[in-house]
Amino acid sequence: MVKSWAYKTPGIPDELFNQNDVVPGPTKEEIRVLSISKARLCENSIVIDVGCGTGGLTVEAALQVSSKGKVFAIDKDQAAIDLTLSNVEKFGVKSHVIIVRGKAPEALMSLPNADAIFVGGGGASLKEILRICKEKLNSDGRIVVNAILLETACMAVDEMRKLGFKEIEVTEIFVAKGKQINSGTMMMARNPITIVSASKS
Ligand code: SAH
Repeated sequence: MVKSWAYKTPGIPDELFNQNDVVPGPTKEEIRVLSISKARLCENSIVIDVGCGTGGLTVEAALQVSSKGKVFAIDKDQAAIDLTLSNVEKFGVKSHVIIVRGKAPEALMSLPNADAIFVGGGGASLKEILRICKEKLNSDGRIVVNAILLETACMAVDEMRKLGFKEIEVTEIFVAKGKQINSGTMMMARNPITIVSASKS
């Protein structure tokens, strides 16, 4: 299969992903780059992506871990599962991505322990998801929560503290992209995203 991204570095341009109107994502490319770095992945890492949506983060993680590792992509929505599968195929990482339809936290129970867990969805179940993630992570495992809502970021920080996560770090990212207009390049702001990351121990 011809790979759609022939590079080692993350940050696949958003427009290279198959997308549709009903599934959110992909997580914007600059946010994916930082999320991947906060997860501190190795070639053989076991990764879980909770709320895989379009599959943006799933594909980036799968390219990092290579066929020596595994990425489990979970979503409660069948349209997201189908879209993630199409992107996993497009980027040639199907051999080490397992796509699971199910709702977190319940869907996490049947998965193996992981070295890194991304949480991009979860809504009202976030607290319970983080509790299960703490159990599922290996001793030096990493958790990375991407929050659009202020409330999600606050809840993630608060809950990680209560659960005893270490090195809790909060990073708010403001990205502006240049748009060509007649008189020059106008910088257009995107909505800020908060990345809350931590280590299990
Ligand atoms: N990171 C993704 C975008 C995630 S969008 C990308 O790069 O493409 C968030 C997704 O989380 C949505 O598809 C939504 O269906 C899913 N989701 C929300 N709550 C969930 C839960 N409790 N369990 C599983 N999936 C969930």
